[in-house]
Amino acid sequence: MNTPHRLNTIEVGDIFRQYGAAYRKRHKLPLQSLKAMSAIESCRTAALGGHVDKCDRCNHSRNSYNSCRNRHCPKCQSLAKERWLEARKKELLPASYLHGVLTIPYELNPIALINQKEIYDILFKSGTETLRELGFDPKHLGAEIGIIAILHTWGAELNGPSPFCIA
Ligand SMILES: [Zn+2]
Repeated sequence: MNTPHRLNTIEVGDIFRQYGAAYRKRHKLPLQSLKAMSAIESCRTAALGGHVDKCDRCNHSRNSYNSCRNRHCPKCQSLAKERWLEARKKELLPASYLHGVLTIPYELNPIALINQKEIYDILFKSGTETLRELGFDPKHLGAEIGIIAILHTWGAELNGPSPFCIA
């Protein structure tokens, strides 16, 4: 499988292409994870075919590989992430904000992997209830708080889909 030329950057797709097959042999993964890995491995490679980008003004053209458009692909979702962040910035109030991370014990990850919807629902519900309760407490803020909760299924260092948390 051909990979596009890049300058000294290692991406999740590179890691999956190099180690994905061996990892899948040693670990049983849910179908959704297998599909995401496959999409990310193929993203912007010859495996998905290509197209020609052509400038309307100068007629310069270049060949590009097609994107996987998988919602788990960090490359495909980087633009969507930037748009989402810009939209959230417009909602910010002139107030103090805190960044908090809630997580589940690492030992629960195998259960979470096969019961993702249930675990995510519990995590979001219990996490937001806990933060709201702390906010209402006069010893802390004594007021209702607003929360933007996001699920991280990868560590900030992209070190794997293990710490399920909301931030
Ligand atoms: Zn992609």
